[in-house]
Amino acid sequence: MIIKTACHKGRLVLKFTPEQGDPVSHHKFSNSYKKSKKVSMTSMQCEIHLPSDWTITSVHPDLFALAMLATIYPFAGKTIRLPFGISQYFHDQVFKITKKKILPIDKKLSRRKATTNAVPALTFSGGIDSTAAVALLPDKTHLLYFDRIVPKGTKTLLNQEAAYYACKQMKKLGKAVHNIKTDLQYLRKPVGFSTFLTDAVPALLLADYHGYDALANGQTLDLGYRIGHLGYEDCRETELAKPWHPLLQAVDMPYTLPTIGLSEVVTTNIVRQSPYAEFAQACSRGKIKKPCMNCYKCFRKSLLEKVMTNSPINDKYLDELFQIKDVKRVLATKHLHYGNVITYITSHYHGKHPEMLALKKKTRGDRLDVSWMNKWYPDAEEFLAPKYRDEVKKRIFKYVKPMNQKDIQTMKKSFSKEYFQK
Ligand SMILES: [Zn+2]
Repeated sequence: MIIKTACHKGRLVLKFTPEQGDPVSHHKFSNSYKKSKKVSMTSMQCEIHLPSDWTITSVHPDLFALAMLATIYPFAGKTIRLPFGISQYFHDQVFKITKKKILPIDKKLSRRKATTNAVPALTFSGGIDSTAAVALLPDKTHLLYFDRIVPKGTKTLLNQEAAYYACKQMKKLGKAVHNIKTDLQYLRKPVGFSTFLTDAVPALLLADYHGYDALANGQTLDLGYRIGHLGYEDCRETELAKPWHPLLQAVDMPYTLPTIGLSEVVTTNIVRQSPYAEFAQACSRGKIKKPCMNCYKCFRKSLLEKVMTNSPINDKYLDELFQIKDVKRVLATKHLHYGNVITYITSHYHGKHPEMLALKKKTRGDRLDVSWMNKWYPDAEEFLAPKYRDEVKKRIFKYVKPMNQKDIQTMKKSFSKEYFQK
């Protein structure tokens, strides 16, 4: 893959030219609907709107190279050619970990090191989980919102109003928030992020401009350790960490994932107790303070909210939720996406609604011990950069206790790979 750049007043344009052997498409498994679909690179250009005085020299070439990997990794063959050289160190690390070569090498360039006064960067969506991350990270953390440019005439369910509102409120509370406009999710069809690191591209490109030494996001235990959809797996072995965890270390911007050891149950609780409860909103389709109530996320998060606040769940409310088309599609699959959260919800449901009772049985809410979902998984500590580890842990322990050996065993056994293969 050949990558060319042009930058005018901070508007960075990236142009991609595939070379022989570059895979143009691949198959990706949808965890929500349990179906495989073809993902293809259909556009060869995208743009990212950075601050007007940002230039290509505002970023260390190694960080730029990692941003490019995060953008086109599944579509890149053996070689990625940039318009300028990267350090020998980063070249070697990328080759060791991915067997891909990024060229050229600038022999005089030393590896990227963050400055001593650098701060963490968080990819912030305005949703529950990344808002919980704000509460757990140092106050000086920068929040980066991936502001999606939607090409004219494109049909989309996306509505960013609530997220913009959350960004505005965070700014009012004194947080450094950066909305970075980009259309890079339109490089592929179906539209979306090519890798687990794609939403961090703005943070990587601004890492030297603002000074970042850690990368955070709001991924939770449910997905990070796969208990919510495929069965427990060491997070280091998943696509969230591979190859990104070591490559982020190689540019001195290691992962600091404050919520990766916490389930959605805990992140919901943290946000509820935070100054951010008023504006955090999970749904990306609704309006300000008005989630769409027409998607699986709204189904799951609204029921969880009711359980966490001990609010009554009446039959009429459930009737409406079970009518949602998207919910029907997800509930028709054998092992539900974020099924552990549904287990938690149904284990706290004591009404008589027939569909809810059937869901309780299906997700084993009638027999599993779910108390571990109110705790922190201590193995997740390895995803907290040493520099910030103690502070983040201190903040986590304000809300929850660590899991003990029995909790960990229950988690791994209840949501094992074997269970999901049954
Ligand atoms: Zn919704």
